[in-house]
Amino acid sequence: MKRNQQKILRLALAIGLTLTSCSDDTIPVDETTAPAAVNAKASITTPAKGHFDLDFSNSVREFKPNLKLTTAVEPSECGDTPFNEVADYYNDLLIDGFISAWDGNPDAITIILEDYFAINQIAAAYEGKNTDYFGADGEYTNYVKQQVRSLEKFWGMANLITVNGQHTETLEDLDFIQYIYENYSSAPPEEIDYILEIAENFNTNSDQIPENPFFASDGFATFDRTIVIGDGIVTLLEETGLDPKVVWSSILAHEWGHQIQFLNFDDWQYPIPAFNDTPESTRMTELEADFITGYFLTHKRGATYNWKRVEDFLSAFFNIGDCGFESPGHHGTPAQRLAAAKAGFDLANGTKKKGQILSQQEVHNAFLSELDAIVGTSASRRITK
Ligand SMILES: [Zn+2]
Repeated sequence: MKRNQQKILRLALAIGLTLTSCSDDTIPVDETTAPAAVNAKASITTPAKGHFDLDFSNSVREFKPNLKLTTAVEPSECGDTPFNEVADYYNDLLIDGFISAWDGNPDAITIILEDYFAINQIAAAYEGKNTDYFGADGEYTNYVKQQVRSLEKFWGMANLITVNGQHTETLEDLDFIQYIYENYSSAPPEEIDYILEIAENFNTNSDQIPENPFFASDGFATFDRTIVIGDGIVTLLEETGLDPKVVWSSILAHEWGHQIQFLNFDDWQYPIPAFNDTPESTRMTELEADFITGYFLTHKRGATYNWKRVEDFLSAFFNIGDCGFESPGHHGTPAQRLAAAKAGFDLANGTKKKGQILSQQEVHNAFLSELDAIVGTSASRRITK
């Protein structure tokens, strides 16, 4: 096994929100959207497992961009939230863009709609490729760095955590794509040449590949003290009508919450084991990350947001994947997650605690004392603003 493959296998994670867990596996291409060159009977099926065996079981992942491989409008139980509407829009653009450059070769599905996501995860998590700036043109770099310094100071975690950007631009670099296949897959040289021909065709002939925000939509925290936030996940949330700076700082604060959990993994007690890949366990640690987020974002010595701003962001964020109630990656219902963040806000803004920054252990203890009440929150599963 190649060294880098071993490195990947060491990563772990509780899979997070799933955007389109309700989508069908095989959906015929609508003849009205397919170009004449494509056989009307051709279909885009869920790609075969790609060339990269990524194991994120040692990380916490917020968003899993499972594409809906059709542009046909079908009602979905995941739909009807502002986030889902924006995501569906870009999903359809991506699939249309794929079809526009597609000759019907099924291998292209695996490469463009499966491998490209893995390649950009490897770029951001392991290769440090284009990770030192935020926003497609670096327009949020200074802001993110300032937020990182604020989190470091607030939680007493100077120089512990690496925060990496992720960009669609990375996938324009065919030399880099070749390098990733050579070092992270078992494809022989002649197959890599064939793959690169396909990649070059799509990169040249589709205006969505790789420009579409889905290709840089990761948001995750790993046990090896890395946080990845892609431009794309910010774009998707921003276009629901949110201030992009609030989106950046909120995702960052949530992932930072996971890093605090990882740092305290050996010491913190929970009512059930943390990070054991069951719905109850994932919900618990996600709700705690939300609690920590609410605490930091509204604290007078943290991000100093008012509750309304935090609530606006969280309402959109929590609608990302509300189909996964039974899955090991279930993050909690939107109502539970809002209740968790509100409890964090209450802790930060309680009359006795205002201005004082509690220790990580004290915040953890405060969360545990609220956990039953948070989980017992009964309200609509879906929050539409
Ligand atoms: Zn999380």
